[in-house]
Amino acid sequence: MNAQPFLHRLREDFLHLIAPALCPGCDEPLGPEEREYCRTCRTSLEPAPYPREILAEIATHFPPEELAIEAIGALYNYAPESGARNLVHALKYQGCYGLGVAMGGELGRALRMFTAFDDVEIVAPVPLHRAKMRERGYNQAQAIAEGVVKAMHGTRLAHLLERTRHTTSQTLLDAAGRRRNVREAFRRTAFSLEGACVLLCDDVCTTGATLNACAERLLVSGARRVVAATLAKDPLNATRPDVRVVLGG
Ligand SMILES: [Zn+2]
Repeated sequence: MNAQPFLHRLREDFLHLIAPALCPGCDEPLGPEEREYCRTCRTSLEPAPYPREILAEIATHFPPEELAIEAIGALYNYAPESGARNLVHALKYQGCYGLGVAMGGELGRALRMFTAFDDVEIVAPVPLHRAKMRERGYNQAQAIAEGVVKAMHGTRLAHLLERTRHTTSQTLLDAAGRRRNVREAFRRTAFSLEGACVLLCDDVCTTGATLNACAERLLVSGARRVVAATLAKDPLNATRPDVRVVLGG
């Protein structure tokens, strides 16, 4: 019997006993069986709307002929002061790569409940620009994609895109500004798509501008269809759109 996993677990349990790690979502100590974030956060954070509703909201930010994403799923609502916001912040700015993989696993398991994601073959992270990668040391979207691949059997991880421009933050831009800001910001790598269904992964979706710019590039490059998934959905406006366009998914 290989004693390494047992010894590793013993060491982790001992460390937990002397200094319990805190859940980055709620700041409560993690229990002995909890890894990365606590069970309460996993089960009681405010859920994101269903994929069909998220797609309908995103569709309001694009001219119909420019919407390249066919379906989009998310785990949590990205409300101000929420645990979801704390978790994404820890993933992006506090080096919690394993947290991204764990949350990606939750995301992948959630996506399996929706037929729109049944035929996903390739899972691709939204790329970071090289300068940002140097600064942060890792791409948080890749951590999420790794978790998703583990949870969605039959899929594989691939880096399909490069970020050619360092885009300014989208935070203060409206929907049209966001579309302009990320247009032509991505380039495809040499990977062959062969008519595959590609799932794009990122941390947060607001208007979907970044995901859609990536999806456009993948469709031009031979993808059969592109779907997307993020840990959280951030509503751009507090009010929900009055007009709902149902596109399926
Ligand atoms: Zn928690």
